[in-house]
Amino acid sequence: MTAIKSGNYSDFVANFKPTLKINSPGRINLIGEHVDYNNGFVLPTAIDKHIVFQFQKTEGEICNVYSATFDTMLTFNINEVSPSEKEWENYVLGVINQIQERGKVVGGFDCIIESYLPMGSGISSSAALECGLAYGLNELFDLGLEKLDIVKIGQKAEHTYVGTQCGIMDQYASVMSKDGHVIQLDCQSIEHQYIPADFGEYKVLLMNTNVSHNLADSAYNTRVAECGSVVKTIAADHNNVASLRDVSLELLNSYKEKLEAVAYQRASYVIEENIRVEKAVAALKANDLVTFGEMMYGSHDGLQNKYEVSCDELDFLVAFSKDYDSILGSRMMGGGFGGCTINLIHQDAIDEFVEAASKAYKEKFNIDLTSFFAKPSEGTAIVTI
Ligand code: ADP
Ligand code: MG
Repeated sequence: MTAIKSGNYSDFVANFKPTLKINSPGRINLIGEHVDYNNGFVLPTAIDKHIVFQFQKTEGEICNVYSATFDTMLTFNINEVSPSEKEWENYVLGVINQIQERGKVVGGFDCIIESYLPMGSGISSSAALECGLAYGLNELFDLGLEKLDIVKIGQKAEHTYVGTQCGIMDQYASVMSKDGHVIQLDCQSIEHQYIPADFGEYKVLLMNTNVSHNLADSAYNTRVAECGSVVKTIAADHNNVASLRDVSLELLNSYKEKLEAVAYQRASYVIEENIRVEKAVAALKANDLVTFGEMMYGSHDGLQNKYEVSCDELDFLVAFSKDYDSILGSRMMGGGFGGCTINLIHQDAIDEFVEAASKAYKEKFNIDLTSFFAKPSEGTAIVTI
């Protein structure tokens, strides 16, 4: 077993005899931001960085879940699950509640969670946490859940216990991804296509601003509501409209006068982003990475100016990248207000760019930038012990 630094829980860790180990990955999304909950198209994949779960069954009804990241233990009775005051505990309890809501019986268990994913940086440590736990419990108690059930359990746990009205992308990418591919996911039909992540001499570089502005949670739900209000207004006259996916730019524009200016602006971003994803997918299939990169820049522009979920630190890094011909595209990734930018960069230019960007970022914000590669990788999986 991996040595885990633990303070108060060193006995628990030392005596742990895991029978099951799960790798649950973080994810990137190349393009298609804030469109999953609007039933649009997204282009994510799991990456080669994980939360690692170890499980053992116990005799009674008591469960212990130890987060090595926080050096904190959550202890609860499996038959008395209810929401907690502590945010991270709700990811765990919410998943168990969702499994139980489906009539499945989970017994007592212990679990150790070790994470190699930065939290709140847009690579969805939350989905990795939810889905790794659901995946592990499915195996441990032979629950007979399908992968798509695990995805939906994670998403619903976030809605009910955590309170974020998230779409399905993060959980889907974490569970369903295939090594060396990106997923083109249609969030309306929940159908996907794997596309080889063939970027030739270009690499996917993540740059973590290491800021996480606390506007993120409330702003996320506000955006969901703003988009919902547009759908409601248009659907009053058009009963075939169930989401922004069913709204063309022409139709939206014909409602401009009837809509709140901000809501109109949000919806126009979403519809344009959907168009960009389709163009980006066609470009990727045609090996036209220049067009692909232009779509990424377009995505950031919309997120910054129309959807207004970016921040100075992210905008600075994206603007900085534009001076480099070796970078084809750059944009903020994830919910926004901090976290990472995702960059498509020529392999020969990486060292120079990372050094220059880190220096400039430090000078401007007095914060250290963290850069790392993301390799398109397999979704949640059992690890041999
Ligand atoms: P992201 O999903 O982009 O990383 P979120 O704010 O959605 O950011 O999720 C981060 C939250 O997930 C953390 O604040 C914490 O509650 C929970 N979390 C993630 N990783 C762990 C971990 N290893 N241990 C405990 N909680 C975690
Ligand atoms: Mg999250």
